[in-house]
Amino acid sequence: KSSVGSSSSASCKSRKHKERASVWNLRELGLSDLGTQQLDELVNRVLPHLSPQEAPLAFGGQTAWRTSHLSTHSFFHNKHGEEDISQYISISHQLHPSPLQSVCTDLQYWPALVQTRGFKTLRSKTRRLQSAFERPADSEGFTPSFMKHVKGVEEAKNELQEVVEFLKNPQKFTALGGKLPKGVLLVGPPGTGKTLLARAVAGEAEVPFYYASGSEFDEMFVGVGASRIRNLFREAKANAPCVIFIDELDSVGGKRIESPMHPYSRQTINQLLAEMDGFKPNEGVIIIGATNFPEALDNALIRPGRFDMQVTVPKPDVKGRTEILNWYLKKIKVDPSEKLESANIIARGTVGFSGADLENLVNQAALKAAVDGKDMVTMKELEFAKDKILMGPERRSAEIDDKNKRITAYHESGHAIVAFYTKDAMPINKATIMPRGPSLGHVSMLPENDRWSETRSQLLAQMDVSMGGRVAEEIIFGHDYITTGASSDFDSATRIAKMMVTRYGMCEKLGIMTYTDLSAQSPETQAAVEQEIRVLLKESYERAKALLKSHAKEHKNLADALLMYETLDAKEIQLVLEGKTLETR
Ligand code: ADP
Ligand code: MG
Ligand code: ZN
Repeated sequence: KSSVGSSSSASCKSRKHKERASVWNLRELGLSDLGTQQLDELVNRVLPHLSPQEAPLAFGGQTAWRTSHLSTHSFFHNKHGEEDISQYISISHQLHPSPLQSVCTDLQYWPALVQTRGFKTLRSKTRRLQSAFERPADSEGFTPSFMKHVKGVEEAKNELQEVVEFLKNPQKFTALGGKLPKGVLLVGPPGTGKTLLARAVAGEAEVPFYYASGSEFDEMFVGVGASRIRNLFREAKANAPCVIFIDELDSVGGKRIESPMHPYSRQTINQLLAEMDGFKPNEGVIIIGATNFPEALDNALIRPGRFDMQVTVPKPDVKGRTEILNWYLKKIKVDPSEKLESANIIARGTVGFSGADLENLVNQAALKAAVDGKDMVTMKELEFAKDKILMGPERRSAEIDDKNKRITAYHESGHAIVAFYTKDAMPINKATIMPRGPSLGHVSMLPENDRWSETRSQLLAQMDVSMGGRVAEEIIFGHDYITTGASSDFDSATRIAKMMVTRYGMCEKLGIMTYTDLSAQSPETQAAVEQEIRVLLKESYERAKALLKSHAKEHKNLADALLMYETLDAKEIQLVLEGKTLETR
């Protein structure tokens, strides 16, 4: 215990000391009297860069050494805090042109960067202030949007836009009656861009960004985690509006923290809860947490007034993957004749890849091209990189092979077709064959919000829609190839049928009597109830079958469209079923 305390205060002192030392040195050197311009000039002369024109002009005409602690370039390209090698590559290029250098067009324009680590360390290691970004200057010139660094997760971006508006002007926002959560929970698998999104929110709003990782709080010593949280919040409140980002929230806020291995982590989470309750919503501090496992979070954390807004950051669908690939392909030299097609083709073959995987894929392809001495990246390198990642040690289990994908496409289209052509079925919202979660595909419906009671016809329609999946498998692939994928469909159909018979009095044979406790009934009644449920299910199955057979053409079109685009919204489904082609996305 004491060693932790003393070492941290020692390092704190030494850092203060260093700060003072650098101030004195500047004075002693007589630099404090230099004007900004002269200082810039001096810095430019002292530090390495390519040529006098390039480095100072790199950030939209500003000098590269402005006040900010980091640049977007160092932020997005050098987030692991390594030395920025680009300057050395660029410099050595002047002497020996390297193939990697010629493949990566970006490197030629990267300026030399002073700050290589993406945050400024405050007095303790958990209190990290990452300043708002410097404005990026990319090939399109001045661009005020940081959100555009995050691709293919449009829904999450839209939801967070409101938070950005709030941070830009908390008083105005609350004066207008805007109500905002204090905590936003980003939920999604690793590498989908949660950290990136949190940073983009701060960057977009031009407010400070405090970064802390849940695992850092996870210490065995009494109160260390708790005091770090306290300090983090104190620091943040003094600098509001700002964003506090707690990565790996499940490791502070997990349910498992009652375990004897972590006797003091309860204090950490209690401190976090107390801090979150302790400030008013209009103070302008937004806490963004990220986790892969929302189920593992302590219930107290997700109660209103804490992390009460959840934003899902899913793995990208084919459209998102295309955008992400295009975004990263822009940074390297791609064979111009394949430029348009390559992202589309690779996107289609990378179901289940996250944004980070796709970025990695592009990097691997560039490396491969460099190793092979090529001066641009072609489909061949991209395919190579894709296979390498697919075969890699962490081979995705969510990966669905082509055959499964086809079956899933027909299964989901089966639901959608029945829903579309059955009177009184709920309108379809979206159909997807993305492996998000335990199932391979999903068709979501839009219940009209004030549907207080349901008619017999509506209930039957729901059952028919449930049947559509298995029926489709049977019609298209044959009885021997039906899959286990319909079990939850049957669950819901059976539930409805059972309610109709036992609760709603919707079955003639058993009449308008309710049977709440079946085991209290005579064996004959039980058998009769079961028989009636079977009849309802069987009839429903047959109706779905007849319907799918009579719409075989639409069924095929829809399945093909799903195979192609993976997700279709209601409007797109309607277009396909009307026999129109979807404009290429
Ligand atoms: P997470 O925090 O969800 O695990 P990160 O934000 O750390 O994921 O993503 C890792 C890296 O992968 C990012 O820094 C970025 O380079 C890339 N990346 C991930 N998702 C995206 C995306 N949607 N758009 C662009 N780049 C992405
Ligand atoms: Mg992360
Ligand atoms: Zn189904």
